[in-house]
Amino acid sequence: MIKKKEFDPLLDARRIVVKVGSSLVTNEGRGLDEAAIGEWCRQLALLARGDAAQGLQGEREVIMVSSGAIAEGMKRLGWARRPIEVNELQAAAAVGQMGLAHMYETKLREQGLRSAQVLLTHADLSNRERYLNARSTLMTLLQHGVVPVINENDTVVNDEIKVGDNDTLGALVANLVEADLLVILTDQKGLYDADPRQNPAAQFVHEARAGDPALELMAGGAGSAIGKGGMLTKIVAARRAAGSGASTVIAWGRESDVLLRLAAGERIGTLLVAPNAKMQARKQWIADHLQLRGALSVDEGAAAKLRAEGKSLLPIGMTAVQGVFSRGDVVAIRDITGAEIARGLANYSSAEARLLCRKPSTEIAALLGYTAEPEMVHRDNMVLTR
Ligand code: GLU
Repeated sequence: MIKKKEFDPLLDARRIVVKVGSSLVTNEGRGLDEAAIGEWCRQLALLARGDAAQGLQGEREVIMVSSGAIAEGMKRLGWARRPIEVNELQAAAAVGQMGLAHMYETKLREQGLRSAQVLLTHADLSNRERYLNARSTLMTLLQHGVVPVINENDTVVNDEIKVGDNDTLGALVANLVEADLLVILTDQKGLYDADPRQNPAAQFVHEARAGDPALELMAGGAGSAIGKGGMLTKIVAARRAAGSGASTVIAWGRESDVLLRLAAGERIGTLLVAPNAKMQARKQWIADHLQLRGALSVDEGAAAKLRAEGKSLLPIGMTAVQGVFSRGDVVAIRDITGAEIARGLANYSSAEARLLCRKPSTEIAALLGYTAEPEMVHRDNMVLTR
């Protein structure tokens, strides 16, 4: 019997979120580092193509989360010190984001890749409806081979409603798109078990379990004056990313071919392995985070497809709708005996779902005036309950 090869968190990562910090992107605040950005984009292109010469096994989907808007904006505005006023930070972000987007677009295009700017806020990731919208936009971009370049929409958020740092944003994006791997590129080689500047005996951490409380003690506080996240926010980000099954690597952004070598399985930096597999983690997330708002009854054919084949629920298999819910709420799916067979996120509200019962997906646009998705509940957003 052939033993099934164990899943390798690096080699087997198909969907990868790469986060780069402000001090790398802007060369410690001196201005956008064209060479460095060009270098990451070159590697992203080889990842997207699954270049065999690089030791890659198959194509990767890549998403960039890049900081640097505020730092670049300050440079362009001639501000030597980071402002404290929120409106000035927001203005700097607005100025700098133009440069950031332009640089990524140029460098990715040089590599034959298309790119898209996506600016997210905390609300986009915590509100269920917006969560689904952001998710389906990103998934659509990936399907079309476009590289999303993401930052926080700094211009419209203040401190209270901010994600705040892009390590956390990277983790939330990894959750959103169910990435396999989050790579946090920074100006340090990775995590030490003590501060190496103060303790010469500090040991480098090559691998640990994401979410291990001992890591947070090792990481201490504060980052650089340029960006927002220190080592601690990276450790916490790794714990969050693990919540949807993604492992995290923290590595030095100027290490040569760092992204390619990681994707080829090489251990560089600190690897924080997610303890739970992706599907299991996602199911846990649906089970833990969301309250049941309603129910959909389905016919025998649809029930069999869900149960036996793990298919999505299409409107045509739906016979009745109970409760009042919005797009993004969790609903139960019940068979003809009334027994619950699954739970999942509804793509349409209860009022819309009532109009869609027994209708083919091709009629959704005519019935509702728009089509969100052809499925009522997508299998990725569904957990079978028995
Ligand atoms: N979103 C901020 C920017 O682009 C950076 C936040 C961070 O450094 O983590 O300037």
